[in-house]
Amino acid sequence: MGRLISIASGKGGTGKTTTTANLSIALGKMGYRVCAVDADLTMANLSLVMGIDDASTTIHDVLAGNATIEEAIYATRYKNVHLIPASIDWEHVIRADPRKLPGIIKPLKEEFDFVIIDSPAGLQMDAMNATMSGEEVVLVTNPEISCITDTMKVGIVLKKAGLAVLGFVLNRYGRSDTDIPPDVAEEVMEVPLLAVIPEDPAVREATLEGMPVVEYKPKSDGAKAFMELAERITRIAGFKSRVMR
Ligand code: ADP
Ligand code: MG
Repeated sequence: MGRLISIASGKGGTGKTTTTANLSIALGKMGYRVCAVDADLTMANLSLVMGIDDASTTIHDVLAGNATIEEAIYATRYKNVHLIPASIDWEHVIRADPRKLPGIIKPLKEEFDFVIIDSPAGLQMDAMNATMSGEEVVLVTNPEISCITDTMKVGIVLKKAGLAVLGFVLNRYGRSDTDIPPDVAEEVMEVPLLAVIPEDPAVREATLEGMPVVEYKPKSDGAKAFMELAERITRIAGFKSRVMR
């Protein structure tokens, strides 16, 4: 039985999509069968970051009742990694019923070792439907106080809603002299710090190439940090998920 992990944050732009793509590919490199899901229905860009632009059937078609989930699962060029893409046009968005997300995503754990769910930011209905499609959650924040406190709130709500909060990723560390240091961030967040991902221009360069950094520049600091995040998750989360059941 696989694991369903939602990637969540308080604010947009913290690096959820980047984390979803790199974590999925890192887990694939480790030999796990992975499905990355674009559940950010209105601001979908996981396909773009993963360099896949020719999908004809998307999660929106499934949510509109026009396709089965199996028809929306695509193999990617990354080892062991599959993708469920989303549509970007508004016609698809208005026909899709986001309340159906948990019902279509949860059964994927029968088929994959890891299902990684890219979610919208915050706690509005769209975000809740996406994150509640998982059983565990990884929070993503940047080293700024308002970003950390917003993400902390999201963690508290998701824990109350029954998700196992594995911890948080401190992303884009080192961009500014006023960055909140990792130990202080961990104290504020009150959940374990899973990884510090440095601010690394290779991450953005990789996006321009349509290939996440763990594949594009595996030796970069950003790529190494995402690989460590994947290893950490395979180690601690197995324990957590056992506790939950
Ligand atoms: P979200 O999905 O949370 O809205 P994204 O993953 O789309 O955020 O990231 C927002 C922007 O920040 C993107 O342009 C991405 O390339 C950039 N970015 C994310 N993480 C890093 C990093 N560690 N170093 C440099 N740029 C980053
Ligand atoms: Mg995103």
